[in-house]
Amino acid sequence: METCRRLWNRCLAERKGAWENERISVSRFEQNRQIAVDKRSSAFLQGVYSHVLQDVVLRLERAYQAFFKKNARYPKFKKFGSYDSITYPDAYNGSVRLGVTRKNTRIYLSKIGYVPILVHRDPSNGKNKRCTVKREGIEWYVVLEYEVPDVEPRGLPIEHPVGIDLGLKALITTSDGWHVKPPKPLKVHERRLKHLQRELSRKQKGSKNRVKAIERMAKQSRKVARTRRDFNHKLSRQIADKYDFVAMEKLQIRDMAHNHRLAKSIHDAGWGQLCGFVDYKVQRKGNRFVQPSAWRSTMECNVCKHVKDMPLWLRVYSCPACGNTIGRDENAARNILERGLSQVGEDIAELMPVESGVQPGRTNDLASPFCEAGTVPGGG
Ligand SMILES: [Zn+2]
Repeated sequence: METCRRLWNRCLAERKGAWENERISVSRFEQNRQIAVDKRSSAFLQGVYSHVLQDVVLRLERAYQAFFKKNARYPKFKKFGSYDSITYPDAYNGSVRLGVTRKNTRIYLSKIGYVPILVHRDPSNGKNKRCTVKREGIEWYVVLEYEVPDVEPRGLPIEHPVGIDLGLKALITTSDGWHVKPPKPLKVHERRLKHLQRELSRKQKGSKNRVKAIERMAKQSRKVARTRRDFNHKLSRQIADKYDFVAMEKLQIRDMAHNHRLAKSIHDAGWGQLCGFVDYKVQRKGNRFVQPSAWRSTMECNVCKHVKDMPLWLRVYSCPACGNTIGRDENAARNILERGLSQVGEDIAELMPVESGVQPGRTNDLASPFCEAGTVPGGG
């Protein structure tokens, strides 16, 4: 990892320098060629599997692409100890071998050798594409990615469609009125994390106690991350099993992160991770996952499309145009479902009232999604 870190820094310096001095862009291929040349005289480079080195250059390339697309800041030089993972991009070629024997379980990593590991999942039968070795504090993990055949998308009919709104009060709210709160253990762990943070701030710089406090905090953040991941896996599993069409709000996380008060809660809620999990779990079953725009989804009446202001404290949407009264988040979820369905060309009128369990008369006689379509001005 240290060799990879130095390589990253050197390649970054090279690209940066070439651009600043001569307005030349150095390509990934040129840098890979250079590595092959340098390797002849460097024992350090020789000690690392060649494709792992090329992956460092690939990561740098991606960091630049993200920067050009304005999705990230300019790539940074990495400090000692801050390069935390290496990737074998084509593990199937023999550079990585997972040997499971009865007595001990080891993984072979080219240029590193046999490493004892704990396998907590049966390896897949698919082709082992990538292998990433990563360090989290004092813990080491190996992540194996397998290629499996795509699941054939299941066609129509859609029987259990759902729209999902992401929120802070309820983590998710569905179009059929299911609310899920953030998990309690997560809150407990987070509270402890905040406590440790305060403790750390009281420690003197450069002291041994400060180092210890940093370690404790890192350990606790890992715990928070694991708890969240576990919860998101379970919740996304439930969603994928329950519905055959999922429309989830498209969050503009980057834009919202500028608003500091909201930013923390957003990152804590782990929405991006949840969306990702739901996405692949739904698709693996051959079902459809869409992310329509959430623009004005809370402001729009889900029945007549009337638009009104909805300040954050207002928990109920009551429509002055058609009289529809519905929970704020549920209203948004139904709008998202509708947008999701129209995105794939499904007519919501066929699906909503009977199939998805939305009861037209529950809150108001007019709450059926199609009875008033087009009759009220000012929609959209
Ligand atoms: Zn209305």
